[in-house]
This record gives sequence, C-alpha cells and structure tokens, in this order.
Amino acid sequence: MNIDWKSMPFGYYKTKVNVRSCFRDGEWGEIEVSESEEVSMHMAATSLHYGQEAFEGMKAFTGKDGKIRIFRWEENSRRLQHSASGVLMQEVPDELFREAITKVVQLNREFVPPYGHGAAFYLRPLLIGTGPQVGIQPAKEYLFLVFGTPVGPYFREGFNPVKIQIARDFDRAAPLGTGTFKVGGNYAASLKALKRGRDEGYSSVLFLDAKEKKYIDECGPANFFGIKDNTYITPESTSILASITNKSLITLAEDMGMKVERRKVPIEELETFDEVGACGTAAVITPIGKITDRDTGKEYHYCPDGKPGPVTTKLYQTLTGIQLGEVEDRYGWNLIVE
Ligand SMILES: *Cc1c(COP(=O)(O)O)cnc(C)c1O
Repeated sequence: MNIDWKSMPFGYYKTKVNVRSCFRDGEWGEIEVSESEEVSMHMAATSLHYGQEAFEGMKAFTGKDGKIRIFRWEENSRRLQHSASGVLMQEVPDELFREAITKVVQLNREFVPPYGHGAAFYLRPLLIGTGPQVGIQPAKEYLFLVFGTPVGPYFREGFNPVKIQIARDFDRAAPLGTGTFKVGGNYAASLKALKRGRDEGYSSVLFLDAKEKKYIDECGPANFFGIKDNTYITPESTSILASITNKSLITLAEDMGMKVERRKVPIEELETFDEVGACGTAAVITPIGKITDRDTGKEYHYCPDGKPGPVTTKLYQTLTGIQLGEVEDRYGWNLIVE
C-alpha cells in the first residue's frame, strides 16, 4: 500500500471492505463483509422516497503509541438510535454498532493513516429503509452499513480562522422538525445556502432559528460556540443536531475551570464574544475570524492577529491530544481497536 498520507484530501478514498447487516423478518442479521461499493435495493425503498435515512460520522486515529483509537463510539451509536426513532426506522443495537465499526477498522487496517500527518480514518455508519412502500409508511426492512475512508485534515491550511455568512433566507430545520436527527433531509435543506455561501467566498453558513430569526442555531453541519468572561456559551434550540464534539468541548471547558452556558444566543451577542468557533467531527474546531450578515451587511470580527484565540486553541489541542493518545483520556472516550 503506497498512500501519500501528507496530501490526503478530505474525501472518499476506496478501501478494501465495508460491513453490512440487514433487518428482515423482525431481526438484525449477521454482519456481512462486502467488497462492493454499491447497494442494491428495491426501487420503492423508503429511503429513496420518504427520507428514511440517517447516518453518523466518526473518526479513528492512530496514536503516538501506534494504537488505533475510535472516539466516543457510544455517543454516535446512541445518536443513530435517536435519529432512527425520529424517522421511524429500526434502531441499531449498540452491540451491532460496535462490532460493525470495529470490523471496518480491523479489516481496513492498511487504510488507517499512521500517526503524524493530521489524517484520520473516517467512519460512516449508514441506516436506510430498504423495504418497498408506496403508501406513506415506514419500511419493514432496513440496511445498516458502515464504510470507512482515510481523510486528510478538513482544512488543508490548518487551524486558521475562517469567514462565515449568516443566511437569513434559508432554514436548515424547523423548530419542531427533524433538526435533532442526523438525517439526509436536513442536509438537502442546507445545500443551497452552503453552496451560495461558498460561492460568495465563505467557508460555511450560520443558520438562525427558523421561527423568530433572532437567535443563532447552527453553523452548517457544525455546532456554534462563543467564548467570553471565562464562559463557554453554546446555543440551545430544538432544531440543533447535538454535536458530540461540542459535548466533549463542554466537558473540557469545565475541566479548564470555565463556566458553561447552553441557552439561546441572540445575534446581537456576537458583538460581545472574544472568540467564536464551529465544532464537529470533521474539523474538531473551526475558529471563526469573521461573520458577515448577508442581509444587513453587518460584520463581526474576531482573531485580530489572524490567529485562533487562546481558549479555542487550548480546547482544540486538548481534544485532538486525547484522540491521538497524547493527552490522558480521563473519561474513557477512546475505544482501542486491537
Ligand atoms: C454531524 C453534525 C454535527 C457535528 O456533530 P459531531 O458529533 O460533533 O460530529 C453538527 N451539526 C450537524 C447538523 C451535523 O449533522
């Protein structure tokens, strides 16, 4: 295997195998190992018509000690169950989830990037309704599939502040809709805003609460946080996808002696933060240097010296240090794959 780990993009790279289990006749089947990159299903499958689909995103890392660690898998498993119940799909039991992700890592070991290049092995668990229905109702059959792909750092330029745009003319999710579920439909709803934001020179888009357009909701496929007065502040809303990275940063912020507030964050408060960032598995933390309100033209500036702030940097280093086995894993977040 001759992979150029240093210039690995953040994208799909073919590996050896993926694993699958089908739910049929009321039970999950044995895990099958597949070399195919394709899924064959009935053309009336509910995932294709009615959005019975949910996924997860998580990473495995080779640590300094050469051991492979998967970060907080129980959280991803629980969230996939939450997403499944949200769109009436069969839930995947923790044991099956754990066995599947472990197998994918073990059987594709040569595709797990070695330590030291900023690359990781991204795992993509996927749950879809495969049973046919024409009337609107949940499928009777489901496919749970996990594939992995080596990925380079999300931002090739490294840990640097980016520009974000507030898009008031789009909503990602309704207040009582599917925002808390990691389902493809929410992504479909955000694609146009994200594409336009990128075309206009921004890394991502900040969505506001759909009902009042007064509060910060999410930052594309990442949660938002702000830092001021030794406090970590992150929006509370019924349409946000609960980020496991955010949950982890909250724990680390508390460990650092900071206060934590989960509450509504009015847009005007952007003026008062010392540091702001977006967080998610892909980039861990994306420091934000500038936020532009597309409709009003108002700009909010951070990182005056062009570098991420001290708190953001410390949080980033601690979390990535735990993932790479460089910082003590006090909470047992890592599953070591033998
Ligand atoms: C996956 C996702 C996140 C990030 O969650 P992590 O568990 O930190 O990766 C944030 N927002 C949305 C909408 C997501 O789909």
